[in-house]
Amino acid sequence: MLFKLAILIGILFLIYLFFFKNKRQEEIKKSNEKTKTLEGETMVECQKCATFVSHKEAIIKDGQFFCSKECARLT
Ligand SMILES: [Zn+2]
Repeated sequence: MLFKLAILIGILFLIYLFFFKNKRQEEIKKSNEKTKTLEGETMVECQKCATFVSHKEAIIKDGQFFCSKECARLT
């Protein structure tokens, strides 16, 4: 009985791992498409004016990147 339960937990864990791994890979793939790495710094494109700004300076609004507060407000 305990052995069967252990197998069941193992299978569920593997299923969980499989889905979690796929989801993570999709997220990584998505973020790679939208970002550019320049001189070790991650560059992101402004959704409003298409200017590339460093990830640190970028303003994130609704999951999108903007170069300035002005751009973030206008969209
Ligand atoms: Zn902008």
